[in-house]
Amino acid sequence: MQYQSTRDKSQQVSASQAILQGLSAEGGLFVPKQLPGLSEPQLERMVRQDYIQRAQEVLGSFLGDFSPSEIEACLKGAYDEKKFSGSQIAPLVRLGENMYLLELWHGPTCAFKDMALQLLPRFMTAASQKSGDGKEIVILVATSGDTGKAALEGFCDVPGIRIVVFYPEEGVSPLQKLQMATQEGNNVFVAAIQGNFDDAQGGVKKLFCNPQVTAMLQEQNRVFSSANSINWGRLLPQIVYYVSAYCDLVRDEQIALGDPINVCVPTGNFGNILAAYYAKQMGLPIHKLICASNKNNVLADFIQTGTYDRNRPFYTTTSPSMDILISSNLERLLFHLMDEDDAAVRQLMERLKNEGRYTVSRQVLSRLQADFDSGFSDEEETAATIKRLFNTYSYLCDPHTAVAVSVYESYRSRTGDDTKTVIASTANPFKFPQAVLAALGCEIQQTDEFEIARKLEELSGSKMPGQLAGLREKPVRFIESFSKDHMEDALVRALQNG
Ligand SMILES: *Cc1c(COP(=O)(O)O)cnc(C)c1O
Repeated sequence: MQYQSTRDKSQQVSASQAILQGLSAEGGLFVPKQLPGLSEPQLERMVRQDYIQRAQEVLGSFLGDFSPSEIEACLKGAYDEKKFSGSQIAPLVRLGENMYLLELWHGPTCAFKDMALQLLPRFMTAASQKSGDGKEIVILVATSGDTGKAALEGFCDVPGIRIVVFYPEEGVSPLQKLQMATQEGNNVFVAAIQGNFDDAQGGVKKLFCNPQVTAMLQEQNRVFSSANSINWGRLLPQIVYYVSAYCDLVRDEQIALGDPINVCVPTGNFGNILAAYYAKQMGLPIHKLICASNKNNVLADFIQTGTYDRNRPFYTTTSPSMDILISSNLERLLFHLMDEDDAAVRQLMERLKNEGRYTVSRQVLSRLQADFDSGFSDEEETAATIKRLFNTYSYLCDPHTAVAVSVYESYRSRTGDDTKTVIASTANPFKFPQAVLAALGCEIQQTDEFEIARKLEELSGSKMPGQLAGLREKPVRFIESFSKDHMEDALVRALQNG
């Protein structure tokens, strides 16, 4: 299985190279040259398997130059029982007649990013051993909150790898900030950026492409890579849980093998929903992919109109991991919808860079709409959804998940489509205690996040997970903030110590 770049198809690499490099040299993203199929007999077999066995089947077909035993070792290390609480790794919770929440936040940092970021460092180490060039890998991450912590946790003290995380100073929740500022490990560095997520992401891309910086790394026998969802190794593990959720529905006799389902995903960088699209392309019976945006509804608009336009106000919301105006992974979808026309993709991406907008052809738009539906939920609707789910089902959900539930409910009443729908639940509600408590209508006098969480525990009867509650006692290690034009200074600092 070979991978090619969305901006230059002649750039072809193996799975391990795609994972090590993260981004193609000319700025394109790696996509598989051919998608493996998922047949009904294979699905039938997987119904009887556990999560790790299912993952082994799906990953094996994509990771051509990894041996089955290498993949198995990566999986067993990543989804270890000590890291993922409970017996199931990604459980489904049924709410109402047709709605199933796929809880993807049982990992070490309480957000769905753990599903991929526990696995990616293991892939990288295995891939690096194959290349055998002895270079230290420097992972650069721009984060809207959850990726940063999940990556730090995944890469912490992994030999041969160093990780530098940039987050927008005003764009993450206090708990997210504390999770990163208290990160342990000798190979980690965390820097706050004075700007928003797009500034942080743009700055990281510039560092990647800066010849002086690359030369400096070369001299130090180091090489950059990425743990953002532009890295194929981030997307791939996400395909697994959609396949697994489908198998669970069959196993639990909620659907018959072959019945279609919908998938609804709260979307930011378009990684998580793109994984569901790949699952559909492989043959998983998915009817509609419902893309849910928050008030930053650039994606919902794109799917409705065919025009992607980032020239609009940027809002800071209670679902910060979706406060994004440039959704990097959309480039992969465009490549597929445009018959793998790399020159055309390059042109659209140039236009996005220079003018902040582009429009796809009518044909591409109709292909897009054949697979995708979309909608957005504003702050009031999101809060009302948290409250409604709690009052109706005694189920506490976080604001990102609530965006998706809200969009799904509007989709359902607009279309009358009563296909059973899996909604990605992307974070534990205790990661955002203030927003959740406010949504439940509680007056908040406290300013301390842990006091607020305690109040939420009292009200809901649920418990704050230990890995969040324990942050209170941890020493803060990283407090520095940098202007968005000085991210290089942060990098130099990060590479100095150790
Ligand atoms: C990252 C994140 C999202 C958005 O996922 P994408 O893959 O960027 O679309 C949604 N919810 C939470 C909690 C997240 O951390």
